[in-house]
Amino acid sequence: MKKLMALGLALTMVIAVMAGCGQKDKEVLTMGTNAGFPPFEYKEGTEIVGIDVEIAKEIAKEMGKELEISDMEFASVVTSVQSGKVDLGIAGMTIKPDRLEQVDFSDTYYKASQLVIVKKDSTITAADLNGKKIGVQDGTTGDDYASETYGSSNVSKYPTGMDAVMALTSDKIDAVIIDSYTAKALAKKNADIKVLDEELTSEEYAIAVQKGNTELLETVNKVLKRLKEDGSIDKFTDQFVKE
Ligand code: GLN
Repeated sequence: MKKLMALGLALTMVIAVMAGCGQKDKEVLTMGTNAGFPPFEYKEGTEIVGIDVEIAKEIAKEMGKELEISDMEFASVVTSVQSGKVDLGIAGMTIKPDRLEQVDFSDTYYKASQLVIVKKDSTITAADLNGKKIGVQDGTTGDDYASETYGSSNVSKYPTGMDAVMALTSDKIDAVIIDSYTAKALAKKNADIKVLDEELTSEEYAIAVQKGNTELLETVNKVLKRLKEDGSIDKFTDQFVKE
């Protein structure tokens, strides 16, 4: 009987500790992202840094919560926000109709376009990509553009832009189509590639929240407005877009 009571007590304690953890969880704000997208989110050693991370920290601070970053494939970010697995999708994410059916978007905070990366010594121009092998990051607007324009059989999908660039430099593909800031960031780190001037699309980035979560959306918009007005967004850009 004593043993049983001791067990009961132990169980109660475990439950209490677990409840305590649950309480603590409430104070965490989770950001779903793909940390292979410089200058917005990328790894420096084991740490995830970038413009989006700074923005997310400001949102967490505003809410009095601790920021937790959940690094995942880009293609999973929208569904993770939709299912509530993460609170925010902050991933240099372009607003587009099919995503608007799954999540709500904040006000926009960046303008971008799709650019073409080729090998430094290549003579390929943006006009002659027809029939070429094109690499993209899976599930991105670059993927959409390339698949629609050149046919999906000509398109190879990679988990990150860096993987696509690796395939390019090892001659598996002829070109990479990816977001402008990331194209330039990747080219800065790799002397074997160059970015062509032609802008293939015109896009705007925003933050995704679960559909109907107007309270969180309003907080996000409030913070974005402040960061735009007080020059913080420009400061983050200077900090992470290294010329
Ligand atoms: N802006 C692109 C998109 O939304 C790419 C984003 C990314 O790869 N992180 O699809």
